[in-house]
Order: sequence, then structure tokens, then C-alpha cells
Amino acid sequence: MSHAGEQGTLFIISAPSGAGKTSLVAQMLKHDEKLGVSVSHATRAMRSGEQDGVNYHFVSRSEFELMIGGGDFLEHADVFGNYYGTSKSWVRQALMAGRDVVLEIDWQGAQQVRRLQPDCVSVFIVPPSAETLRQRLIGRGTDSVEVVERRLAEAEDECSHAVEFDYLVVNDDFDHALADLLAIVRGQRLRMNVQQQRHAALLAGLCNHRGLHG
Ligand code: 5GP
Repeated sequence: MSHAGEQGTLFIISAPSGAGKTSLVAQMLKHDEKLGVSVSHATRAMRSGEQDGVNYHFVSRSEFELMIGGGDFLEHADVFGNYYGTSKSWVRQALMAGRDVVLEIDWQGAQQVRRLQPDCVSVFIVPPSAETLRQRLIGRGTDSVEVVERRLAEAEDECSHAVEFDYLVVNDDFDHALADLLAIVRGQRLRMNVQQQRHAALLAGLCNHRGLHG
């Protein structure tokens, strides 16, 4: 339930591919009904099992460029040859409605959002070891050496920005990593600046009594 005037928090979650970010975020949403995830616009091809409007809003490069021109994005980036961007209006509306919003974006988008909204909370997820990441990226062994090498280089590039984030979650055990993420969200909701909005009347009432009895 949101209270009048209560603004939601913007959570950024980034990770190298293979860290389990998408599955973890999906579970976060199941455990916490106050959380919403922003569905990004993307110009890459839809993968099998994906749905337009669910995983991404899939658009052409020219549509995406028109949206950039129209100032439609809170942030956008070229991630390994494809455009990805976050809808400014959707995020603003969700936050104004008091919802906490998760952005699953890369480090470039995270940098842009931090500049625009310094009170956002950013989390970086990593696998437990470089070897685990390698094994996950190699996958079933059906990809060419070039594809695997490219994925490893992309993952290294993403990980080189981990220290820019507020929190680091190690996805060794899935349930543990999920609990860590939910704890970060819960901790944020207990911060005084957030609680002051939610409990303004309570705090005012408690302080009023000081004059009478204190
Ligand atoms: P994938 O194509 O594998 O779904 O995502 C590739 C990368 O793009 C991931 O690192 C993902 O976090 C990032 N990404 C997805 N949506 C956005 C977005 O809206 N903005 C930015 N900057 N990155 C995004």
C-alpha cells in the first residue's frame, strides 16, 4: 500500500551475463509485491521463449532513435552492438505512485541514472568465481570459440565497473542471493528519509507529546 506523497525508490541491478540476474529479479518480484520491474526497449532480435512487451519492448533501430530524439528515455546505451533503454515516463509514474522500481540495466545505464537520480540504490551481482562464470558462459558447448571468447570479454568489461555500485551480491547459492537482494530492498525502506515520508503523522504525533509531558 502506498501512502499519500510517498515516493518509491529506484533500484538498479547489474551483472555480467551468467550471474543469474534475470532469475533473481523474477523471484524478487514474486516475494515483494511492492516492487515493479521496468520493461526496457531493445533493438536486438527476440530470443526463443521471449515475449514482446514482457522481456523487452522490441523495436527497430530507427524507432529507437526516434525515441532518443523525443527524450523518451531515462537512460539508454549501446550494449555490445544493440540499443537498450529505460522508459522515462513509466519509471516516473511508478515512482510517483509509491512503487519501488527495479531497473535491470548495464553499467553505462547505471552511471546515467546515478547522475540523474543520486538517491537511487545500485546493486551488482557476481557469480562465485571466474571459473563458474566461464563454465556458465561456455554453456552446453554448442557455441563457437569466438562466441564464448566474446561473452567472456563482455563479462569482464561489465565486472570492471562493479565497485561503482552500492552493494555487491555473490550468487553462490540462489536462495541466499535472493535473501540478500530482498534485505537490501527492506533496508532501504527502513531508512529515515524514506520512513519520514511514510510515518510523518506518527513522528509528528510522538514529538508533540514532548511539550506536554517532557
Ligand atoms: P540481454 O540482451 O542479454 O537481455 O541484455 C544484455 C545487456 O543489456 C544486459 O547487461 C542488460 O542488463 C542490459 N540491458 C537491458 N536493458 C537495458 C536498458 O534498458 N538499459 C541499459 N543501459 N542496459 C540494459
